[in-house]
Amino acid sequence: MVCEPAPFAARDDFLSWGRVVRRAQQVARPRFRGELPSLLALAPAQGVLAAGLRRSYGDSCLNTDGAAIDMRGLDRFIAFDADTGVLRAEAGVSLSQILALAVPQGWFLHTTPGTRFVTLGGALANDVHGKNHHRAGSFGCNVRSFGLLRSDGFRGEVSPSSDLGLFNATIGGLGLTGVIEWVELQLEKRPSSYLDSETIAYGCLSDFFALAKESAERYEHTVAWIDASSKGAKFGRGLFSRANWRDDDERDAHRDGGGKSIPADAPTLLLNPLSIGLFNEAYFRSGQRKAGVMRQHYAPFFYPLDAIRQWNRLYGRPGMYQYQCVVPPESAPQAIEALLAEIARSGQASFLAVLKTFGDRSSPGILSFPRPGATLALDFPNRGAKTLKLMARLDQIVIEAKGALYPAKDGRISPRLFRASFPKWETFLRHKDEAMNSDFWRRVAQ
Ligand SMILES: Cc1cc2nc3c(=O)[nH]c(=O)nc-3n(C[C@H](O)[C@H](O)[C@H](O)COP(=O)(O)OP(=O)(O)OC[C@H]3O[C@@H](n4cnc5c(N)ncnc54)[C@H](O)[C@@H]3O)c2cc1C
Repeated sequence: MVCEPAPFAARDDFLSWGRVVRRAQQVARPRFRGELPSLLALAPAQGVLAAGLRRSYGDSCLNTDGAAIDMRGLDRFIAFDADTGVLRAEAGVSLSQILALAVPQGWFLHTTPGTRFVTLGGALANDVHGKNHHRAGSFGCNVRSFGLLRSDGFRGEVSPSSDLGLFNATIGGLGLTGVIEWVELQLEKRPSSYLDSETIAYGCLSDFFALAKESAERYEHTVAWIDASSKGAKFGRGLFSRANWRDDDERDAHRDGGGKSIPADAPTLLLNPLSIGLFNEAYFRSGQRKAGVMRQHYAPFFYPLDAIRQWNRLYGRPGMYQYQCVVPPESAPQAIEALLAEIARSGQASFLAVLKTFGDRSSPGILSFPRPGATLALDFPNRGAKTLKLMARLDQIVIEAKGALYPAKDGRISPRLFRASFPKWETFLRHKDEAMNSDFWRRVAQ
């Protein structure tokens, strides 16, 4: 069925999660899949981009020179088999909606990022990863097929057997191979919605790597908070968290709504080296006190930040950057130490800093970010040139370590670093849809 499309209209509130780019763009919000072909046909010369819940931090979900299709209105379930755990849903369905449906029936997502407010289309297009990457790999490892619409007139199901090249290019393909209309996913059998999670305070980076190695075999989920502002004897300290699912048949799904919210942009002075240092000290000490094993529902375990809506406003009107890199196992200890030393020296660290080791399960995605090694992710309040210079110094360390940066978090990397991060980018070009474009792509594909 082809319907009349909702027209594109200028919006100045269509921002990514980091809120650094504040340019108006043309946006259409269809309600039915039948509207998509006409919208694609209306794409301006500068291209069009499908967008989800815009939880990407930088500019990969923006297309300010062209137009965007806001996919959130396409949020219907198409089929769910509670015996096999195979789910098919429109691309605008969020992971939160999926869990609300699946958890009471004993199913969970194989892979979930640190927020449940991402769409199926966005999770697939960034091939997101979670705390269990060392066991489960990335999101794309459990995608069975998807519906794709391309500007050359193709509209149909894509699976590894129908078109392996297009399948692999779309997983982690940053929305540039066409509009994903729906996704079919294999869920994982989970008789409980609770985990046994353990927090361990560690004193230095070598302790982190030892804990990560020791825990990878025995724990399904591992991640660490790291105090990125600490120096001297406290340098590299943090809180290591590891968990396994319980088996107790309690299937309580989370509830959205309610909770706290940051009502407006916070004053930028709130986040300064002194306040961050004090916060990190208090957080580390409270983690030390609470260290041990506890029974925890999946919502606070996987999604602690979802408890405060619009927490990104804490960074004030200038917004923030997130920096996420991965460095290979052989250079990881030295590279992570060098990155943290540079960050601590700069005095620009924030409290959100996460360190994790990835496993070696490879993703089908040609441009997928996860790969074996250690990944460091942290927020930087946007302080203009000062922050950009810091990140350029970090880039240098990542390049020397033969690492990569994560496009979902990025809003400024150079074409050189993009190509170094994704050596198969030329293979990807064969599958790119020429009508699709983004601010990120315009920058890195120069
Ligand atoms: C608090 C927080 C924690 C996070 N934790 C993690 C984490 O642990 N691991 C991780 O990997 N990521 C993490 N992220 C990043 C987030 O998971 C990804 O950016 C995710 O892709 C966002 O999905 P979205 O629906 O918001 O998509 P958007 O951000 O809107 O778009 C992301 C990409 O998907 C494309 N896209 C969206 N829908 C479609 C469609 N229907 N068809 C074609 N292309 C489409 C867009 O063009 C864009 O390239 C986190 C983000 C936040 C805010």
